[in-house]
Amino acid sequence: KAKKHLGQNFQYYQAEMEDEMAERLALLRMLRQDFAHDKLQLWYQPQVSLITKQVVGMEALLRWPQPNGQFISPAVFIPLAEYSGLIVEIGSWVMEQACLQIKQLQKQGYTGLRIAVNVSMPQFRSHGFVQSVIDCVTTQQIDPQLLELEITESVVMDEPKIVIDALQKLKSFGIKVAIDDFGIGFSSLNYLQQLPLDRIKVDRAFIRDIDKPAGEVIAETIINLGKRLNLATIAEGVETQAQEQAIVAMGCDEVQGFMYARPMPPAELLTFLQQQKAAG
Ligand code: C2E
Ligand code: MG
Ligand code: MG
Ligand code: MG
Repeated sequence: KAKKHLGQNFQYYQAEMEDEMAERLALLRMLRQDFAHDKLQLWYQPQVSLITKQVVGMEALLRWPQPNGQFISPAVFIPLAEYSGLIVEIGSWVMEQACLQIKQLQKQGYTGLRIAVNVSMPQFRSHGFVQSVIDCVTTQQIDPQLLELEITESVVMDEPKIVIDALQKLKSFGIKVAIDDFGIGFSSLNYLQQLPLDRIKVDRAFIRDIDKPAGEVIAETIINLGKRLNLATIAEGVETQAQEQAIVAMGCDEVQGFMYARPMPPAELLTFLQQQKAAG
């Protein structure tokens, strides 16, 4: 009897898994179609210096609008795009858009603003990735130092040699590198000395918990680690004044969070920058 029971459960779970898989495949098909029809958008979230209070750059974030006016979260569709390999094509579109945006900002008189772009493992693994990034920068004739690549710990852990080699080449070309979501992955601190890094992004989880003893200690430790390694530090997900005060006291260099600005489409970004400029 027990065995039969187990069998029914198994069938139930299998059916559920098949449903979920079919749902994901349908979503992936939609994503592929919308990408082919130029429906994906690249939005920008400002990054602010805690010393000068000026906008110093922004992170490029993908947006997938739906007919009902809502957006499917990147947390949902990026893993699908990674799994299917579609992220390679989407990623090179993102890179082109970001370099174009740097160029456009320059034309508007914003010459020193950098743009950070998230890069996934399949991109590193794809043929010609390094050259394609260099080509983007060269085509737009922009300062390579204004382009920053964001990689997560899991990307490094996956295939450290490929990633380290690629980043070293890009770095010697002048492109900047940040480690994203720092502290929540499973990375070994050893990678910190092997990677050609410029910046550490303190994960939002530690900023959220910065009013608790453990969160405070971890955030402070990461910021100190950055300082000792001569890396710039940026705190992600700062939403409140209290959180800002805490990271300022810890000596964090920059912030990115809803308290300053949410991710916004390119047209809004220009208005935002103009307002910032006018405010001094
Ligand atoms: P991420 O790279 O860590 O990006 C930061 C995420 O935190 C963004 O979520 C941003 O909207 C959100 N965020 C920023 N400030 C705040 C805040 O104050 N409060 C809260 N609650 N959230 C804040 P988003 O846009 O949903 O992106 C999620 C993730 O999707 C990104 O995490 C990144 O890993 C991935 N992603 C987005 N665009 C791309 C892309 O072009 N390529 C790749 N490979 N991944 C991307
Ligand atoms: Mg990021
Ligand atoms: Mg992050
Ligand atoms: Mg993240």
